This record gives sequence, C-alpha cells and structure tokens, in this order.
Amino acid sequence: MAPDSIVDHRARAALEFFWADGERQVVAYPVLRAHCPCADCKALRGNGLSGLVPEAAVQVAAIQPVGAYGVQFVFSDGHDRGIFPWGFLRGLLERQHASGS
Ligand SMILES: [Zn+2]
Repeated sequence: MAPDSIVDHRARAALEFFWADGERQVVAYPVLRAHCPCADCKALRGNGLSGLVPEAAVQVAAIQPVGAYGVQFVFSDGHDRGIFPWGFLRGLLERQHASGS
C-alpha cells in the first residue's frame, strides 16, 4: 500500500508519510539511510558493520517512485541504490515510533 503523500521537511531533515488509513509518521533522513535495504548495505550490516552509521548530515536528495512497488531515495552521500518497498517502509517507520525515537 502506497502512502497518500510524502512531505519533505527539508528544514527538519525528515520525511513525513501520510498513509491511506490515517497513520502519519515522520522519519529522519539518516534513519532511512541507515536502513537502506539494498544488497550492498545489507551485506555491510550482515558483516557486523551495523555501525554503518551515516553522516548525521546525510540528506535525501531525491525521491523517485518505483511504480506501485515502493520508492527509491537518492541520498546526498551519493548512494542511490536503495529501493524501499512500501511494506518495508511502513514496518520500519512503525518500529521507529514504537522505540520512541
Ligand atoms: Zn544501500
């Protein structure tokens, strides 16, 4: 399920997602970068480099829709391989909020 809209709060370095069921979530750019689901990032995390801590200043430079499937973020550190399926994104955001961060 795709969100109804994504609002880019550049001044807060965060994206806000509005879902069709009324849920609304804000996530900071570095959180998205840290959870990039691409094969490269997964491999790095799998190698115990979970410290793959992105620069705090990393930004989402561009948001590109990937059909009905999800969204691709282009990060300001040049990384653009991460395609976030909607279901993955929603789960990530819910975990973020559940942990109170
Ligand atoms: Zn990645």
